[in-house]
This record gives sequence, structure tokens and C-alpha cells, in this order.
Amino acid sequence: MLIDSHTHLDMKDFDKDRSQVIERAMKAGITHIITIGTDLTSSVKALQLANGYDFIFSSIGYHPHNAENIDPSTLKELSGMAAESKIVAWGEIGLDFYRHLSPTEKQIEAFEQQLDLANHFDLPVIIHNREADKDLLEILKKRGDSKYRGVIHCFSGDYDLAMTFIQMGFYISIPGTVTYKNAFRVQDVASRLPLDRMLLETDAPFLTPVPKRGRRNEPLFVTYTAKKIANLRKTDFHEIARRTSENTKKLFRLPDVP
Ligand SMILES: [Zn+2]
Ligand SMILES: [Zn+2]
Repeated sequence: MLIDSHTHLDMKDFDKDRSQVIERAMKAGITHIITIGTDLTSSVKALQLANGYDFIFSSIGYHPHNAENIDPSTLKELSGMAAESKIVAWGEIGLDFYRHLSPTEKQIEAFEQQLDLANHFDLPVIIHNREADKDLLEILKKRGDSKYRGVIHCFSGDYDLAMTFIQMGFYISIPGTVTYKNAFRVQDVASRLPLDRMLLETDAPFLTPVPKRGRRNEPLFVTYTAKKIANLRKTDFHEIARRTSENTKKLFRLPDVP
């Protein structure tokens, strides 16, 4: 039992062998995959994929990179999809001041609008945060929502920041970077994070874990991330797999898949 809580199966990197990638994950015992929307087109594709397989679920949303392309009609279209049974989250949304592909003001506006929409549709949020800790926390705090339901995906901050998000109600998702030799900070977080707050993800096709680093990532490789975390915490792989799966199912209200 193992879940990839964040992957991008709609991306063109999977065009040649998407169904094999999905079959491989299924056969190896990945029980659920959440494939993530990053704009309107990608959200539509993600939902189509989810509708094609019992064990795939999807999210809808605009990545901060694409914030500039949002207009009222695109958000309306996304909203129209929110009640679909396979849509389990709003995201990924957030701020990215590292690549900074959309202007700051646009990113902030898109983030706040989509936090409202997630609230309105009672969906958990999937938050992307790159080099934007301060602004992101400020926005979340000033809204005054007492508790958030969501995850900080691909977490790359330190342990104290992780605990700050946890106190606000968030889960923390650990990607394959935890397997990298010099990834001391994320390894420290993965070693000490309360296990009832941890999710696992691949963020495929990106961030391929060791020993597959250098090639395209895929959902099956979440296994390497779980193994590494089990090592770091001196516990059993199955314990990590079971606990992170329970957390993911709880957060996204995922059903058992036959
Ligand atoms: Zn992201
Ligand atoms: Zn992503």
C-alpha cells in the first residue's frame, strides 16, 4: 500500500508510454495516484485520466507559473468541474518567486482567489511554495482561517517551517529529493516530522529519486522515497507506506479502490 499524492501524468513527457507507466504503478501496488492540474487545459486532461482508471484521482487549479493566464472565465470553467467525483483537491496553487514566471501581483491574486474557491467547494488545497515563505505565510495568516485543510507539496524548507505549517493544519509532502546525497535539510525534516502529518509524492516527471536519478520520474518511484524515509527513521518500509497512505486518504477523502 503506497500512494503518489502528487504527479503530472498529463504532461507530454508521458505521451509515448502513459498507459504503461500507469500499469506499472498499479501492478507494483501503488493504490492511489493524484494527478495534478496546473492550468485549465491540464486540469481537464487530469480529470480525463482520472476518469479512465479507478485508482487515479485529480485536482484542478492554476500553478503560480500560469497565474498570468487566469481570467474570470477560466476560473468559472474550473469551478464547473469542482463537483466531479474524481476531483479531490484544488491545486496546485501558491507562489513561486524562484522561477518567477508570472508577476508577483498576479501570483498573489491567483493564490487568494483559488484559496477562496477551494473553501467554497470544500476541497483541500495543494500548495506550491518556492522561495516565497514569507509572503505565503503572511497571506495564509492574514486570511484568519483558523485551520487549513491541505498540503505543502514538495516541501523544501526546514523543520521549523514544517512545524509552522502543521500548526496551521497542513500536511507536509516529501518528494524524491530526500534520496539525494546532500539533501540534508529535507532529510532532517523527513526524519523528525510527525508521521501523522507526512505525505509522499513523486512530482513526476520531475525530481527523480536515486537510484533512477537522471531519467524521467514516474509514480512507481515513490517506492524509493518511502524506503529512504524508512531508513532515515530506522523503521520499516511498510510502516511508512501505511501511515502516509492513511494520511493521504484522510486529507483527500480518497475511497478504497477495489
Ligand atoms: Zn509544485
Ligand atoms: Zn507539481
